[in-house]
Amino acid sequence: MKIRTMLGDITKVSCDAIVNAANTSLLGGGGVDGAIHRAAGPGLLEECRGLDGCRTGQAKITQGYDLPARYVIHTPGPIWRGGDDGEAGLLADSYRNCLELAESHGCRAVAFPSISTGVYHFPLEEASRIAVGTIRDFAGRAVSVQEVILVAFDARTKGYYDRALECDQGPVCF
Ligand code: ADP
Repeated sequence: MKIRTMLGDITKVSCDAIVNAANTSLLGGGGVDGAIHRAAGPGLLEECRGLDGCRTGQAKITQGYDLPARYVIHTPGPIWRGGDDGEAGLLADSYRNCLELAESHGCRAVAFPSISTGVYHFPLEEASRIAVGTIRDFAGRAVSVQEVILVAFDARTKGYYDRALECDQGPVCF
């Protein structure tokens, strides 16, 4: 399985599934969530209304509607509360549960935004290491998922992803 990074807007990425850094209501919000709902059109919100929300670290899948991606996988990442509230484990859960859903829906290429590092304030350096580490762990079990694209909306985020990818043992390299 290949992992690559890119700078850009995830709503423009053509792949089997894009991940939405949602909130637990799954009824839309700001940041990447708002951008995905705007680009997908009203059908997405309609389908999300029937999902009954989603717990932090869990994931639910919908169609992609007007997006180039076939599916949207929604996951509420943890809100950063200082680091002693299980944030790291919950962020890893988000990545893992999204990948499991992508796998069970036969997706080949999956794109992730930087979950929780916007208004949820998860520190970027640690979040990048968790993203890369969790995806690498999953790679050993992946059958249908062949490519994961880490989509950074700004250069700083891409820099942290690239550094985390260069490292075999994340913390040693930082
Ligand atoms: P969270 O609530 O999980 O922190 P945010 O949407 O506030 O989610 O931010 C998560 C990340 O998504 C941030 O790095 C933000 O810059 C980025 N982001 C915002 N819009 C887009 C977009 N259209 N494509 C990709 N990433 C985006």
